[in-house]
Amino acid sequence: MPGRVKTPASGAGGKKATGLQDKLRRLGLRRREDLLLHLPLRYEDETRITPIAEAPWTGTVQVEGEVLAAEVQFRPRRQLVAHISDGSATLVLRFLSFYPSQQTALSPGNRVRCSGEVRHGFFGSEMVHPRFRVVRPDTPLPETLTPVYPTTAGLAQTALARLIGKSLSGPPLAEILPPDYLARESLPDLWEALRTLHAPPAGARLEALCSRNHPAWKRIKLDELLAQQLSLRQAYRARREIGAPLLPGSGALASQLKAALPFALTGAQERAVAEIGADLAQPYPMQRLLQGDVGAGKTLVAALAACQAIESGWQAAFMAPTEILAEQHYLKLRSWLDPLGVQVAWLTGSIKGKARQAQTEAARSAGLVVGTHALIQEGVDFERLGLSIIDEQHRFGVQQRLALRQKGGSPHQLMMSATPIPRTLAMSYYADLDVSVLDELPPGRTPIRTRLARDDRRDQVMDYVRRKVEEGRQVYWVCPLIEESEALQLQTALDTHAWLQEELPELAIGLVHGRLKAGEKQAVMAAFAAGEVDLLVATTVIEVGVDVPNASLMVIEHAERFGLSQLHQLRGRVGRGVHESSCILLYAEPLSDTAKARLKIIFEHTDGFEIARQDLQLRGPGEFIGSRQSGVPLLRYADLELDAELVETARALAEELLAQAPDKAALHLERWLGGREELLKA
Ligand code: ADP
Ligand code: MG
Repeated sequence: MPGRVKTPASGAGGKKATGLQDKLRRLGLRRREDLLLHLPLRYEDETRITPIAEAPWTGTVQVEGEVLAAEVQFRPRRQLVAHISDGSATLVLRFLSFYPSQQTALSPGNRVRCSGEVRHGFFGSEMVHPRFRVVRPDTPLPETLTPVYPTTAGLAQTALARLIGKSLSGPPLAEILPPDYLARESLPDLWEALRTLHAPPAGARLEALCSRNHPAWKRIKLDELLAQQLSLRQAYRARREIGAPLLPGSGALASQLKAALPFALTGAQERAVAEIGADLAQPYPMQRLLQGDVGAGKTLVAALAACQAIESGWQAAFMAPTEILAEQHYLKLRSWLDPLGVQVAWLTGSIKGKARQAQTEAARSAGLVVGTHALIQEGVDFERLGLSIIDEQHRFGVQQRLALRQKGGSPHQLMMSATPIPRTLAMSYYADLDVSVLDELPPGRTPIRTRLARDDRRDQVMDYVRRKVEEGRQVYWVCPLIEESEALQLQTALDTHAWLQEELPELAIGLVHGRLKAGEKQAVMAAFAAGEVDLLVATTVIEVGVDVPNASLMVIEHAERFGLSQLHQLRGRVGRGVHESSCILLYAEPLSDTAKARLKIIFEHTDGFEIARQDLQLRGPGEFIGSRQSGVPLLRYADLELDAELVETARALAEELLAQAPDKAALHLERWLGGREELLKA
């Protein structure tokens, strides 16, 4: 059993002890292993003293000198200012906040050793908030580099370093990787790696130790990724232990549906349907992600999966993130399934009272239930839920996806997303999922032309809109995103609508935004779908899933404020029919560097996969998925992009370890994720 962290004061049980434990806990440090795996952020070289006169203009240096004078000054604000000299020059030490003990330490005549960055200014050289301590002329210099740890308010570096040093003097952590493997890969064993990183040997070079490729770091990153892979494999296996309804289907409904369609399935759709079909016939719950670019035809694949569940005598639930989208799905699915005699029910949060009761009642036994988050609310029950389908899965949190699964024993789960998962993420955070890919768009789609236009070219854009409408096409006009204020966002939508009505009086202009009542939204969308509205002014409520093939132009205002995947999703609302489509991105200057980079990417690429890959590079994986959504602890040391090769190695090692040394696999998991597995269950 791993012991608790022993702290100097822990026996006393006083207030101080609790304080220290709290601070350690804030850093996630509860056990000896946690301390050992809490590795330095960087190192400082305190092995040398630099004469003040020779201190470089940049970078941290260590100087040593005698305090000549020290005083508390009050202008421009209270601060402690000390002057020291080492014979080569004098240096000012400036502290904007300080403890009385620091003031005492800086008494004239004391000798102090300080590290920090020297600023050479008009009035001489100074260091602001140096780390310092009082020394004697014969106080030896450390022979090794000094680690600097991530810490929290009130926990000093020295205190943390002392605790870690203590852990390091205990028995070595058991090695889990075979020695011949380590030799072959020229990797140190774990204990050696930890010692090198916490207590660098004399002569270790700063640059080498700070390099990502140092063998000790490589070893740590491999271990971290291995823990991640193990936990994912474990979750995968655990899922297979759970029983799920058998949904082999008869093919009756599915083949009727296919026969009724005015088109044939794409090869990719056929493949995905077959993969899902095979999973549904298994006695453990499917957890599959159907990934396909905007417009690839995921809904139909989901409908065929639902058919298989219904044929087997079970229900399917289909959840979408917005009311507009859920409604579209509902109408589409009804048009497909009504003729087959399947009861399709509709469930949404915006309907209350008696009507709601009727909805809930119908949902209890309907073959297919379509809706929003309302599906996972209390009071909604299904008699025999066999398959839950989640559209635009990245819009839901782990808890919500989990909730739908819990609505009926352990149904099979199909998640769909147009936001492709880059390979490295697929291998790590999503390794627990099986994935089907729709890598083919239905035939006859026309590519979307994207143009960038500065705000002041609005007039030309209006002309273009007019022309498109004259040609019989329809247009989306997307209002600027205002993240800070929903009220402001709404106001902007109203203003834009009014302004466009003035500018284009000959057009029928509709408005849809998040604050409309469900019925109103529905009416506007229906009018747009029926071609009664030429120009639809919309907020991002139309971002996902909306499908009106005759709409062939989209104008996005203040495109620089949108995220990449949002722009890609929005743009995917056009290019759904036979007409040549385009998307005009209006932007306002000045543009930040990231905004520029985003616009360049969306301008140059139409492939969702490539856009997601570049997005990942721009933002880093943490933000890309968000820990809340992934449910998997984010990596501390390894980087999925930079260490992609290690991810592959870790994956292979995880398989091997589980097969050959499950006890070591368990030990490793406990060591890295001890007590945090609850995050992994989703
Ligand atoms: P997404 O993958 O973005 O959810 P949808 O399911 O909304 O895409 O499909 C986009 C459009 O393509 C819909 O109008 C749908 O009916 C149509 N569609 C789906 N599959 C095919 C196909 N095999 N051939 C032609 N059109 C298709
Ligand atoms: Mg869709």
